[in-house]
Amino acid sequence: MNRRTRRGELARYRQRSGGMLLTWLLDTADLDLAPGLLAISADKWLASLPRMRRRCFCCFEPLVDRRGVGALLLSRPAHVDDVATVTGLCQSCWTRPLHEIEAAATDVLAAAVPGGKFADPVL
Ligand SMILES: [Zn+2]
Repeated sequence: MNRRTRRGELARYRQRSGGMLLTWLLDTADLDLAPGLLAISADKWLASLPRMRRRCFCCFEPLVDRRGVGALLLSRPAHVDDVATVTGLCQSCWTRPLHEIEAAATDVLAAAVPGGKFADPVL
């Protein structure tokens, strides 16, 4: 996927979000708790790691394979359930204080909802 395609997809996702996302931060051992499409998207995202260049959304270190991923940040628009985004948190960052993880998650989600804030604490 090139930069132009990625920007187009992000713009469409931003538009479909309507300014509101539902989010889940799940340990990779608990991905079965993710609803429908998000669980499928999470599996595909993890399976793609060896060939896709992905980075931890907190420390930006490369995520080489699923063993290096501690948790996934999943999101979908609040009123649309056929699209989802997935990003990963490395094992090391998964041990950071929750407020640090939440700040990094807020930054990454701002691409879809600029200026957005969490309405409820991340569990
Ligand atoms: Zn990290």
